[in-house]
Amino acid sequence: MAKHQFQTEVNQLLHLIVHSLYSHKEIFIRELVSNASDALDKLKYLTMTDDEYKSLNFEPRIDIEIDEAKHETIVVSDTGIGMDDTDLIEQLGTIAKSGTRGFIENLTGDAKKDSNLIGQFGVGFYSAFMVADRVEVLTRKAGEAKAWLWSSDGKGEFEIAEAEKESHGTRVTLFLNDEGKEYSSRWQIEDVIKKYSNHIAFPIFLHYEKKEYDDKGKEKASEPTVEQINSASALWRRAKNEITADEYNAFYQTISHETDDPLFYLHTKAEGTLEYTTLFYVPTKAPFDMYNVDYRPGVKLYVKRVFITDDEKELMPPYLRFLRGVIDSEDLPLNVSREILQQNRVLASIKSASVKKMLSEFARIALEDPELYTKFIEQYNRPLKEGLYSDFANRDTILDLVRFKSTKIDGFTSLEQYKARMLPDQKAIYYITGSDEAKLRRSPLLEAYTKKDIEVLIMDDDIDEIVVPSIGKFKDTDLKPVNRSDAGDDLKDDTESRKEKEKDIEPVLKKIKDVLGDRVKDVVLSIRLSDSPACIVFDDNDPSMKLQQMMRAMGQTDIPEASPILEVNADHPIVARLKDTDDDETVSDISWILLEQSLLVEGAQIKEPAEFVKRVNRMVAKAV
Ligand code: ADP
Repeated sequence: MAKHQFQTEVNQLLHLIVHSLYSHKEIFIRELVSNASDALDKLKYLTMTDDEYKSLNFEPRIDIEIDEAKHETIVVSDTGIGMDDTDLIEQLGTIAKSGTRGFIENLTGDAKKDSNLIGQFGVGFYSAFMVADRVEVLTRKAGEAKAWLWSSDGKGEFEIAEAEKESHGTRVTLFLNDEGKEYSSRWQIEDVIKKYSNHIAFPIFLHYEKKEYDDKGKEKASEPTVEQINSASALWRRAKNEITADEYNAFYQTISHETDDPLFYLHTKAEGTLEYTTLFYVPTKAPFDMYNVDYRPGVKLYVKRVFITDDEKELMPPYLRFLRGVIDSEDLPLNVSREILQQNRVLASIKSASVKKMLSEFARIALEDPELYTKFIEQYNRPLKEGLYSDFANRDTILDLVRFKSTKIDGFTSLEQYKARMLPDQKAIYYITGSDEAKLRRSPLLEAYTKKDIEVLIMDDDIDEIVVPSIGKFKDTDLKPVNRSDAGDDLKDDTESRKEKEKDIEPVLKKIKDVLGDRVKDVVLSIRLSDSPACIVFDDNDPSMKLQQMMRAMGQTDIPEASPILEVNADHPIVARLKDTDDDETVSDISWILLEQSLLVEGAQIKEPAEFVKRVNRMVAKAV
């Protein structure tokens, strides 16, 4: 017998599980059954693809034994792949996946949410210690003669010893603590299995004592009984009209480890040159790891009902990584390797057809159930926007699906809806980008648009800055940023009075330019201001300020600083004052204040705040 220490993370995890999930103890059954099912999947796959395993006697099943007399144990066993001693140390003593720290960071303190996280991180086995003082795992790996007994009280150490086991598979025995006693009951087990594991593709048998009672309620007879308690059918292979919403939802919970219902789902069967079934779910809440690089993919691949993999990120494009579900193909060979998968033509066409189907389902919902679509957008607008630059083939469709905030409506608008609201002679779709919605809504850059009643889209998502400029047009209408030197045709003003104004202000612009030097690219008369004295914009060819900030934040320190163009409002009293004065100090102070206040409004840092304050104070002193 050999003693081993748990990896430190396992200890932390055990502690966390036991202390944070006590109100959801029942999930340990789901986790053990799903491990058993995985082990069966793995062996089934080998028996179908690997000659060495073809002769093996494989009767896939999961058995749960309870002891209703004393409530001391629960046993979950399977006839799956089993583990050898190395597997035991690696799988049940360490956490191979890097998810633990993420798991710990993601804990919310809300037991319901946290219990979901456990399944998603794949740390399920340890949940057994919520209900057991001691756990024993007797296991024999398929194809090997030796069996092993792993045991632990979950307090820092585990032991592994050689043992005897008649055939391959794993038998997990929980020695229940006081908290766990209630689960050694027929009704409890059936309940939890129905809830989470009904559609596990293998039969689950419950072993219990069937009791008979006389008319006085006294036990007459007791007979050991074994009964299958799950439906064990691959739900996605049944006809749509024979599946209830409850069944769809329950299946979703089985495969996603979520406890709530999905937002919606799409079940389709393709028949023709390629035959396959897909069942995709959109979770009600975005998966917690949606923005992690090493997110866990949510789509499982089956070939003729045989589980192939659930760890293949390329089954669906990354921008649809929030989908949960199943692809089951009739045409792929069973022994597809990962390399083959990635360049397999069958899979590539399943993927592209599935993407199209999902996108048109989103579009259908947008049209027919706006309320549901809003919920969808609240969670998934951003990954969809990623699709705008990663999925060129579907870009037009995605462009119809993404939503934006706007100066004219509450909530979200589509570009199509914006177009419908455009003024009769409006020439472009306008948008403003930045990080803070409230700031953007108050930006001086919007003044002239607001005055002319032109709607502007508010783009406060980081990704907008990268994605939207590359779109260029929406159905023949240009998309124009309002913080660029070209304000768009709708504000253009070629009238005589404008030309006169320009001539009139020329000396003022020159004064300011002389003061600010190369801190500005140019100083011009603005056509977009009505209340503010000045604003900054960037040349069409320069990166916007937000983009510059983002690039620096990503570590690109060597990008040259693009100087802004200062636009001034000739009708503003401060600017008018510049016209009348030749006092050097006043000209200099006002020029700097115009630039610096414009930078501040845009959320930019000013280089010398102390100087700025001095200038303001000098001006105030002159005024009082
Ligand atoms: P997950 O199942 O998400 O990987 P677990 O902590 O539940 O996380 O299990 C860890 C690993 O232990 C599994 O990945 C698997 O390799 C192994 N394991 C657990 N239960 C069994 C079982 N019944 N049969 C074979 N291997 C198992």
